[in-house]
Amino acid sequence: MKKIVNTVLVLILVVFMALMGFVYYAWVVKKRSRSAAESMIQTNLLIDKVRTVAVLDNNYTNSIRDMLLMGQSRIPAANYALPDSVLRLLQSVSASMPGDTISQKILDNFSILLRKKISYHQRILALAATQPALAKQLITAPENALFRDSVRIAVNNFMQANRRKLIERVDKDNRYTLYSFWTTIIISLFTLVLLLGESRYLYRMFKKLKLRTNQLHKREQSFLRLAEETELILYKSQVDGTFTYVSKGAAEMTGYPNTELVGKHYSMFLEEDTWKRLEAFYINQVKTGDDYTSQEFEIITRSGAKKWVEQMAALVYGEDGRVKEFQCVVRDIDKKKRNEDQVMYLQQRLDAILDFMPSMMFIKDMPGKYLLVNNRFTEIHGVDKKDIIGKTDEELPYDWVQRYAKLDLEVRTTGARVKSEQSITVNDKIYHFLITKFPLRNSDGEMIGICGIGQDFTEKNNYITAIENANNLAQEAISAQEMFLANMSHEIRTPMNGIIGMTNLLMQQSQLSPTQLEYTGAIKTSANRLLVIINEILDFSKIKAGKLLLLHEPFDIYEVIDNALFPLKLQAQQKELSFFDEIDTAIPAYLLGDEIRLNQILTNLVENAIKFTHSGKITVKVSLVKEDKEQSTVQLGFEIKDTGIGIDPDQHEMIFKSFSQTHAGNTRKFGGTGLGLAITKELITLQHGFIRVNSRLNEGATFYFELPFARNNEEVTGKDDKGHLHHAEKPLQGKTILVVEDDDINQQVVFHTLRNAGARTDVVNSGKLALEMLDYKSYDCIIMDIQMPGMDGYQTTQAIRGKGIRTYMIAMTASALKGEKDRCLAAGMNDYVSKPFDRTDLFHKILKGLGEQTPEAITEKKEASEIPFSELDFSAVYSMMSGEKEHVKIMLEELLDSIPQKLSEMNQLLAAKDWQPLYMLAHQMKFNLHMIGMQYASDVALSVERDARLEENLDSIPDRLQEISAIYYQHVHLVKAHIEQP
Ligand code: ADP
Repeated sequence: MKKIVNTVLVLILVVFMALMGFVYYAWVVKKRSRSAAESMIQTNLLIDKVRTVAVLDNNYTNSIRDMLLMGQSRIPAANYALPDSVLRLLQSVSASMPGDTISQKILDNFSILLRKKISYHQRILALAATQPALAKQLITAPENALFRDSVRIAVNNFMQANRRKLIERVDKDNRYTLYSFWTTIIISLFTLVLLLGESRYLYRMFKKLKLRTNQLHKREQSFLRLAEETELILYKSQVDGTFTYVSKGAAEMTGYPNTELVGKHYSMFLEEDTWKRLEAFYINQVKTGDDYTSQEFEIITRSGAKKWVEQMAALVYGEDGRVKEFQCVVRDIDKKKRNEDQVMYLQQRLDAILDFMPSMMFIKDMPGKYLLVNNRFTEIHGVDKKDIIGKTDEELPYDWVQRYAKLDLEVRTTGARVKSEQSITVNDKIYHFLITKFPLRNSDGEMIGICGIGQDFTEKNNYITAIENANNLAQEAISAQEMFLANMSHEIRTPMNGIIGMTNLLMQQSQLSPTQLEYTGAIKTSANRLLVIINEILDFSKIKAGKLLLLHEPFDIYEVIDNALFPLKLQAQQKELSFFDEIDTAIPAYLLGDEIRLNQILTNLVENAIKFTHSGKITVKVSLVKEDKEQSTVQLGFEIKDTGIGIDPDQHEMIFKSFSQTHAGNTRKFGGTGLGLAITKELITLQHGFIRVNSRLNEGATFYFELPFARNNEEVTGKDDKGHLHHAEKPLQGKTILVVEDDDINQQVVFHTLRNAGARTDVVNSGKLALEMLDYKSYDCIIMDIQMPGMDGYQTTQAIRGKGIRTYMIAMTASALKGEKDRCLAAGMNDYVSKPFDRTDLFHKILKGLGEQTPEAITEKKEASEIPFSELDFSAVYSMMSGEKEHVKIMLEELLDSIPQKLSEMNQLLAAKDWQPLYMLAHQMKFNLHMIGMQYASDVALSVERDARLEENLDSIPDRLQEISAIYYQHVHLVKAHIEQP
């Protein structure tokens, strides 16, 4: 705009100057031509005057001649004054031509000539009166003619000279006019060109201006559009700061609706100080014409909250070229600003931290100049920050700089972090530092410096040494303690076994009085308890010493669970507690793991459940939590639930700690060491599982644990869909059988026989429990004892059938009464076996009942592993009991009671490869088997005893124990039958 104004001004100036030039020029030309005309008139006038002088002079001469010719003595009076007039006229001509030296000279000569001529004629005149002839002579004398010619020549000279002057003047005027003409032409052309140029420039400027105006218009349009669409506030204000337009975004940023703001002044958002500062700033912007500025300041929103914003203000000019308004964009930078403040605050804090941190620290740039050192650094080196910052090691006069040079170089050349331990002596005190140096890099990954941190571990070093010493001492103490416990447990167990064995023998002495029997009974109970405690302590000390090795061997999970639960179910039944178990049939049967430890865990938890439950029921559920087919692993969940005394939630954690019980009365009331759960948890954790408890006081307890197992893929051949093996040894694989039998020996016999044949077997000791059990789950087959206290076999069968349960039922009775079989069938049973039963016969009947073929292998097997003896040799027990039949029976019962437990204990010891206690148990087993008449098994036990003692042939011990167990369970019914014999 300014440019246009300037250009227009220049244009006007040029035109004005051109005009002035022309006017002046016209004036000069006019003046010139007037002076030329005047001078021509003047010259002509003078020429006329000179001519008049010549005429007058001639008149004077003629009057004298006429006077003489006419003989007169005087000339007419009027001519007397002629000479004076002539001279005066000539003088006036001369006076009117100042500066014209040529004409003056001519006139001067003319004047002299005239004067001479006049005086000549005046002499003639004077002579006329006196000497008229002389006068006439003189008048006609050549002298007079000469005068006349000279006058003519003088007049001619004058006229020529002035004519020449006039011609020169006219020439000069003509030349001047020509110059003027061309000058005018040139100036005109120049002005024209200038005007054209200016006009073009102006045209372009106007075009540009128009374009800019269009653009401005468009920009304004898009500004307004943008204003409505963006989160920013866009507003326009008059130069004094009154809003003329505010975009919608204002509502969100300030809390005021945009429409409400129009007409208000922007100071409404500002504190006094801020407003003053901004006012001065924007006044200055208008003054300097700074098109665009940016300012950051705090506004106060409608709610009174403060907010940081950034305002970009652009000046908008009106058509008059003056600032018309402000166009502003306001951005919310509150978050950023607060972050910056935060960063600043953090920076200060960081500086403070760096200065107060116990480690020394420095940062150097690539040329090695110190950029930062903290207080600890200066303290340790006894220097001042200002003496170091900005200097390189080479420039510092200290010895210690050498200490770091090598590490610095290493970081610089390798670009990697380096560490080194250094001891520094300051004021006679030795400090230990762990110096770590690492490169600092910019965002492009280029190394821009080195940072060094010296961690003072002097005290830590001292502590570590002290802790290490203490730790070693503690470790030694723990090892000594564990060693002691382990040794003591062994030491105690050996005589304990002796005590228990001897007590058993003592109790079988017939001559004991009832009091003595009671005392020995008490000894036996206490000794048994003590043995449990010792076993637990032994386990615990082994776990703690990290000496407990877990097996990773194949087993049948169903078998392990059944075997573990079987004695516990009997235990529960003795307490008249219902016992239900449920195993998810989706669980693959063959797994790899430690069955003994699983048995131990289950036994511990279920025993606790039984122990702490007075009435109600125990339930055990085993579920398949997850199966990873690819990895061939399963995760099993075991839930043991009781309706007992419960545990206060406050004590849930504590009960898993060693030697802890929920309240002091427990030990007295229920017995126990408080180690069971601690061992259980350790065993589960060792196997990568977990255990938790859910219980409230008096609301029963639920213990839940999970364990992972690997699938035993080697067993795949010949399996059914659940992985059960089909072979002759397991003819009842997967079948579920309920045995109703009150006699505990018989329970054992039937259970183990069926279990070994692969059947999932539940045993209950009364008709009532059988009914309860059948409410809970269904079976493939029921084996029913006839003679039972309470509901007998017939009644139970009738009740079962009465419930509409059609399960195949086989009666099992020792009764030799005639018609027994028919009674059984009449009562609703399907088949009948007599006691002692024949295993093959039983299997055959079960399978027949289920509509299945008996595998031939059973019959073959019968031959191959047929009972090696059909009668047992009880001579040893009789000789020991001095032939007392009653005592023999008691002894046999006792033995039957303890052998299964010993067998399972031997298996555990075998798994733990704990040979010493194993040989001692084998020794007892040899004796026990000998007593119950199973001599062959006793011999096998002897061989186990021998090998375990010498730690020889250990590989075959598992098979031998298996053999003992097989023989025992295959023949135990013979022992039982013997006991029952009248
Ligand atoms: P103990 O040998 O005393 O049974 P445990 O470690 O097996 O030792 O159990 C610790 C304590 O936890 C028990 O003394 C008992 O107080 C509590 N406890 C364990 N199981 C149960 C349960 N099923 N119901 C109630 N309390 C239980």
